[in-house]
Amino acid sequence: METFVNLSYIAAAILFVFGIKMLGNASTARRGNTLSSIGMALAVIVTLLGQGLDYKLVLGGLAVGSAIGFVAAKRVQMTGMPELVALFNGFGGLASLLVGWAEYQRAASATLAELNLTAPVNTFTASVIVLAILIGGITFTGSIYAWGKLSGKLGGSALTFPGQKAFNALLALGIIATGVIFSVAPTAELAYPMLIAVIVLALLLGIFAVMPIGGGDMPVVISLLNSCSGLAACAAGFVITNNVLVVAGCLVGASGLILTVIMCKAMNRTLVNVLFSGFGSKTQAAGSQSTGELKPISAADAYYILEAAKNVIVIPGYGMAVAQAQHAVKELAELLENNDCEVRFAIHPVAGRMPGHMNVLLAEADVPYEQLVEMDDVNPTIEMVDVAIVIGANDVVNPAAADDPTSPIYGMPIIEAHKAKTTFCLKRGKGAGFSGLENALFTAPNSRMLYGDAKATVTGLVTQFKDS
Ligand code: NDP
Repeated sequence: METFVNLSYIAAAILFVFGIKMLGNASTARRGNTLSSIGMALAVIVTLLGQGLDYKLVLGGLAVGSAIGFVAAKRVQMTGMPELVALFNGFGGLASLLVGWAEYQRAASATLAELNLTAPVNTFTASVIVLAILIGGITFTGSIYAWGKLSGKLGGSALTFPGQKAFNALLALGIIATGVIFSVAPTAELAYPMLIAVIVLALLLGIFAVMPIGGGDMPVVISLLNSCSGLAACAAGFVITNNVLVVAGCLVGASGLILTVIMCKAMNRTLVNVLFSGFGSKTQAAGSQSTGELKPISAADAYYILEAAKNVIVIPGYGMAVAQAQHAVKELAELLENNDCEVRFAIHPVAGRMPGHMNVLLAEADVPYEQLVEMDDVNPTIEMVDVAIVIGANDVVNPAAADDPTSPIYGMPIIEAHKAKTTFCLKRGKGAGFSGLENALFTAPNSRMLYGDAKATVTGLVTQFKDS
């Protein structure tokens, strides 16, 4: 039986690895997801077999969990995905915390005679229990707090207070001290109170660690918490000596960390700077204010300029996701191409509200993957672009990031739409971007504002093309 279980675990691990590999390309991503899910189903079924469990309870839990997951995933809007991911991460962390706690509880409550052991938990197991609880606890409250920020329930900006870093350092020291005392003597009378202290301090640290992070740094935090949920699961795998949980946890931990580093690079920040700089707490106050005039343009006039253009780039952002304008945008792109115009989609790595948000939307509208270009490929030649159409993007095209050292986003790479010959900015009004900053692009001499919901505006342009 043990050989069968371990062989199944290896098969599951292989399915995870190939599934993740396939997620790297839009055309294979769905199959990759299915492959990994099959791997996970295999791992779960094999783990449950032959354990002498009360399957009524297991099936009950499975039914309730699956129903909640199904409804949540069905209902969620594309713009709400990061919040859902934050919740998933959080509950993953909580599960690891509970596994660690329950395992200690189980061992500690069994009498030594019954187990024929000299100690209910050895130092290694105690250490991994602490790790599962520590990382799981931070992930749980950190993710719930991040969910609150992303959903606007707690305000999206960073919250700082004097002595915050020292306070967080104290919490961390407290966790190390209590964790070490617990691990060194897990059978001592003091052990259980120490474990409870680790739990409470870890839960507090999760909240206070995410508190000073805000604005455009939230995607990095979500990605990091995702990685942490994997590491917590890995620690839980050591606690219950389950190989496949260790492997799956490591894969999530490593891939989450790689994504975190990629996102930091995309924003030209270090992870330390993202976590500790308090970015986003002063965004409204800092940065020079834009004084120029906003110049609206009608769809009819915009059509004449587009009709003459030979080279257009579309720069989508969060507003395109809100408006669900991707299908209309694809139709406009086709009409432009039929008019002998080259159309490319310039994708900023943190556009939207989740990694790959724009890629997913455009893939859904069947925009060919080859038409998507990255920021670094588009910027060097952007002066040659006849028209840049900025659809619901704001922070990712804010020139302050490139030329205003007083701006809190100074140094973050942007798509340089302000350098195109003409730029159309599609948005509903004067709303700021995620980081709450003003954007001088909208008042730049080459910019024209196309006000309104992005889908309605793009549909208006499509109609102009079709009617002429
Ligand atoms: P922004 O959030 O900066 O700006 C979106 C703009 O869209 C707003 O200015 C808004 O203006 C406009 N808008 C909203 N709804 C509509 C609509 N229906 N029709 C037309 N326009 C609309 O988006 P960006 O994509 O430029 O930047 C993403 C930001 O989010 C970055 O700061 C990034 O760091 C952050 N972030 C990214 C995540 C990720 O993983 N990608 C996750 C979390 C945050 P108006 O109200 O006037 O219409």
